[in-house]
Amino acid sequence: MAAKKTILLLVLVLVIIGVVLMAGWKKTGLISPVSKLSVQTVNVAAPTPVPEPTSIPSPSAPSPSPDSIGASPIPLPDPLVYGPCRIIPVLMYHHIQPKEEAQAKKQLSISVNNDVFASQMAYLASRGYTALTPDQFLQGVASGVQGRSILLTFDDAYEDFYKYAYPELVKNNLRATVFVPTGLVGNSDYMNWSQISEIKSSGLVTFANHTWSHKNMGAASEETIRYEISTAKTQLEEHGLGPVTSFAYPYGTENLKVDSIMKEMGITSAFTTVPGSYQCAKLPYDFRRTRIGNSPLSSYGL
Ligand SMILES: [Zn+2]
Repeated sequence: MAAKKTILLLVLVLVIIGVVLMAGWKKTGLISPVSKLSVQTVNVAAPTPVPEPTSIPSPSAPSPSPDSIGASPIPLPDPLVYGPCRIIPVLMYHHIQPKEEAQAKKQLSISVNNDVFASQMAYLASRGYTALTPDQFLQGVASGVQGRSILLTFDDAYEDFYKYAYPELVKNNLRATVFVPTGLVGNSDYMNWSQISEIKSSGLVTFANHTWSHKNMGAASEETIRYEISTAKTQLEEHGLGPVTSFAYPYGTENLKVDSIMKEMGITSAFTTVPGSYQCAKLPYDFRRTRIGNSPLSSYGL
């Protein structure tokens, strides 16, 4: 009897130790949610006129998993207040490059393989999609679009856009928008101004504002916001890329102060990393985007 009691006690102690250890591991990240594993940071060299070197964390969605194009975990705006509202997909890309390059540069979580991208673009063309400019998109949200319409966006103006994405856009006659942190142009891994000019001459690509130093707008002062957005605007215009009417929030972080500053500077549309395709005309600085990964576009509801 005593032996049985001892065994029971021993089992109980072991169970308690197990529970305590599990809790400890969870805390230290030894057991971590899948999303944690795929979050990566990318180091960015300091831009020419020295803003602090920034690191670009992967966009808000931790892994590019397809979902239905209109779906969003965030409540949809009331169309009676913010409408008209329509489903117009805005696809968000960062790097397009061969998988091995992405792996070597630790950019897998924000990369789409170039061969996958090629088939995604061919798919859009075969389905008869019209790729809009940001201005056409804005107009489309307000007054409707004919047929299948889409906005293709590329953040950060990486050099792989020039090497791998742009040729596919030309091949399939698809327009796109590149959001440029202008202070980073010419740095390693980024496009330079002559590549940007060459692309611009095709007439297929709109270059738009992504601040000067890829600054997080969330906690920035009004003075900093003004400086970042106006410097980027001026630099884009100086390179013949104006008028600059569109903006994407670095890191997706919004800030209400930004809206009035953008309005003042002639920016008429701004893009977040909030997932979904439900776009409302009276929320022109809150457009939603769908982060695209290596799955076929049909799995995103396109
Ligand atoms: Zn960015």
